[in-house]
Amino acid sequence: MIIFGLKGYADLVATLTMLCPRCHNPAAHRLHKLRRKFSLFFVPLFVVSTRYVMDCTFCGLQHAYSKAEGSELEERFAAGPQAPAPAPVPPLPPAAHQRADYPASPPPAG
Ligand SMILES: [Zn+2]
Repeated sequence: MIIFGLKGYADLVATLTMLCPRCHNPAAHRLHKLRRKFSLFFVPLFVVSTRYVMDCTFCGLQHAYSKAEGSELEERFAAGPQAPAPAPVPPLPPAAHQRADYPASPPPAG
């Protein structure tokens, strides 16, 4: 009988303070490296997939990066604090609760 499967691993790559595109707070953002490894008899053998996720510790906004973007960020953080700041998170599309037809100011009291 052969026992095999996949197991997920999450590593914290870096924590940095930056302006969140959703909550607009200068909050800490954590960059995680998520890897899925193939295991045989509970021994992890090789990485099957890798992806990166950055989340805002204030509002919980998560932004996924491609493997190439994530590796570039990881290399910058490994280079030390003199490394240039990472690229800002792209702006979010307008949320469903931010309707354009919603009145900006209350109607005048009559
Ligand atoms: Zn936020």
